[in-house]
Amino acid sequence: MREVSRCRRGAALAALVIGILLADAVHGATDPANNEMWRGAAVPIPASAEIHALHVQGNVYMLVGAGGNITVQTGSDGVLLVDTGLAAASEKVLAAVRQLSDRPIRYIINTHVHPDHTGGNETIAKAGVTIAGGNVVGDIGASAGNQAAIIAFQTVLDRMSEPASGGAAFPQGDWPTETYTTPERKLFFNGEGIVLQHIPAAHTDGDTIVFFRRSDVISAGDIFVTNRYPTVDLARGGNIQGVIAGLNRIIHIAVPADEQEGGTMIVPGHGRLCDVADVVFYQEMVTIIRDRVKNLIDKGMTLDEVQAARPTRDYDPRYGSDRGFWTTAKFVAAVYQSLKH
Ligand SMILES: [Zn+2]
Repeated sequence: MREVSRCRRGAALAALVIGILLADAVHGATDPANNEMWRGAAVPIPASAEIHALHVQGNVYMLVGAGGNITVQTGSDGVLLVDTGLAAASEKVLAAVRQLSDRPIRYIINTHVHPDHTGGNETIAKAGVTIAGGNVVGDIGASAGNQAAIIAFQTVLDRMSEPASGGAAFPQGDWPTETYTTPERKLFFNGEGIVLQHIPAAHTDGDTIVFFRRSDVISAGDIFVTNRYPTVDLARGGNIQGVIAGLNRIIHIAVPADEQEGGTMIVPGHGRLCDVADVVFYQEMVTIIRDRVKNLIDKGMTLDEVQAARPTRDYDPRYGSDRGFWTTAKFVAAVYQSLKH
């Protein structure tokens, strides 16, 4: 059994490589200056970019190559997506969803505000249709019936609809149609309980992780990425402490299978499909660096002095970068600023 799952996982990882390369190419195209990295709206997708679909387990699939990773749950009730990728990729995402199911797209859940996760909202929502009444816990918005519902934590809508606080103008069609403000929001769809949990002040101030209970899959959003240090959007209420809390929450929910492999699968915001052991390794890395930076701050060091002490040194070969949109220096600065607050 374990051999089979290893095989499947190996093939899955190989299939993901292309998508990851594309995702990185997309990020490389943006300049980190003046917050452009968080907008992504104008980021071109190469014409040759392909969306790859990977069956995770149960009713859940993962789409890579559209910017942020997309999770798709399908069944007789229709289709639910977690995140929608970059706007420029939305037609390709739609085509990839149609390969998985011809049922109506009913729900979109956004893990957070950034356009590499929400840019396809409008196009994909308009291709879908909301169930009016029935199995949503809570009220349906005014747009019920016209399009798929877009569900997110309240601050996602705040930041999309108030450019002054978000720094970028989001098309109104991308805005969430239903928001929640409680720690948890539940749906029942395609015979499966789906639990949305808000993680306060983490990657942003509007992060949601999504747990598919029966399929046993967690969509982590950008609280968990596999190919770099965690990105912390301080300007939109992010904080490294919340990132660690979010990683801890994922570890708390997830159940590993034999020898700590497999079991609950985790779809990261960017990068390859993971199991709990991957998240534990990443959580330890982030926690160790947080503690080192805190220790240096406690000694009275300035940010420059903390940078010079290279608190990430041993992890840099795997996660570090001195160019691109999220450099090691930016990560250390974000940890420093998080702890100074
Ligand atoms: Zn993000």
